[in-house]
Amino acid sequence: MSNTNDELIQLRQALEVPAAKEWEYTVKLLLRLMGEDPNREGLRRTPLRVKKALQFLTSGYRQDPAKILSRSFAVKQDEMVIVKDIDFYSMCEHHCLPFFGTCHVAYMPDGKIIGLSKIPRLVDAFAHRLQVQERLTTQIAEAINDQIHPLGVACVVEASHLCMMMRGVQKQNARAVTSSMLGVFRSSDKTRTEFLTLIRSSLA
Ligand SMILES: [Zn+2]
Repeated sequence: MSNTNDELIQLRQALEVPAAKEWEYTVKLLLRLMGEDPNREGLRRTPLRVKKALQFLTSGYRQDPAKILSRSFAVKQDEMVIVKDIDFYSMCEHHCLPFFGTCHVAYMPDGKIIGLSKIPRLVDAFAHRLQVQERLTTQIAEAINDQIHPLGVACVVEASHLCMMMRGVQKQNARAVTSSMLGVFRSSDKTRTEFLTLIRSSLA
């Protein structure tokens, strides 16, 4: 953390920007670098709006996944728990452009469950950071694994990446699919197949 702070101080000094103005000046600088006039009418409040948008889209850095999952309930249930079709919006760390899609999460409890609403909150805590899809997928699965020690966790993420769609290869319909399978979802074909079937089915 201290390195991060040192670098922040160095960057501030290099830009000679007072801390309270750094978002405004940085966004104005970006606008200038893009060829815009940050002082024209339509862009006057843009630095403030960009600041608010980026702070929201990176609010995951200020959330603790362990805290989100800290309340669990003892149960006898040993059936798979699935939360599917969780919409998410994230930003790729390579281009700072959005990638978005759906996330499907399942776990096989081992005497403990978490509130269902905690799973979408966990997804957002990791999605609202600069990410790569592969890491987002494993972080979601591992957080559940570490926190409630179930028999297994599965996470599948399907996403469209604006950095591929708007630039680069410009493929409009390519969607990336990533998965992380832990415990019984990795070791048992039957469990994994049941999960994959349920996330494709309209009945799950
Ligand atoms: Zn990208």
